[in-house]
Amino acid sequence: MVNAIVLGDSWSWPAAMSIDIVEIRSRMPSYNPISNIEDSIHWLPSSNGIYSASSALASLRVPYPLVPWFKLVWFPQNIPRMSFILWIAIRGRLSTRDRIHKYDPRAVSTCVLCNSHLESHAHLFFEYLFNRAIWTQILKYYGFPWNSLWWNDFIIWASTHWRGNTPIIVAKKLCLGVAVYHIWRERNCRIFEGTQRTSLVVARSIITTIGCRLSSINLKDHPFIALNWNVKAN
Ligand SMILES: [Zn+2]
Repeated sequence: MVNAIVLGDSWSWPAAMSIDIVEIRSRMPSYNPISNIEDSIHWLPSSNGIYSASSALASLRVPYPLVPWFKLVWFPQNIPRMSFILWIAIRGRLSTRDRIHKYDPRAVSTCVLCNSHLESHAHLFFEYLFNRAIWTQILKYYGFPWNSLWWNDFIIWASTHWRGNTPIIVAKKLCLGVAVYHIWRERNCRIFEGTQRTSLVVARSIITTIGCRLSSINLKDHPFIALNWNVKAN
């Protein structure tokens, strides 16, 4: 007990009986105990001395600088499970067949969407015609100019150009996250469920998802988005 080592306003250490006592004593602060104040417990990682999960996380994690695409993925209007897949995709950590093939040479490495190329992140989300058709349809649908870049270059380009929180920027960022999610889902459905949809059907699913999200955050009535939505939907 702590009171066993406190005597008035000074420490009263027993003769060292174990390595633990020596260790504790070496870590004790240099000041003496204050006998007229009630003992209390303080959580040192937080500024107010009160425990919180965020302060515990902050004390454990190693701080890294923010990546330039941070706000492309995480923004207040995002769809969390789709942002999560986009986050993994940008980091190149989805279990694409090129990655699986590195540790299992017997695994199939061919893209299930085209059955001809190596399935990589860049190929899956941008380089194959199936996906290009999807992107073209979505961006045309919303009246956004198509920027013909490859996957990595596109992420950097979008991080630079899609800044701010205007309705149009929010809609564009939603397009990216929702499209990547649905392409990944289509790929998984083909592999694990044996189902297959055309690029047009996938694009329609993407546009529907974006439309629902825009409605739920009251952006569908924004003049620019409403114009494109109403013209294309009719
Ligand atoms: Zn392919």
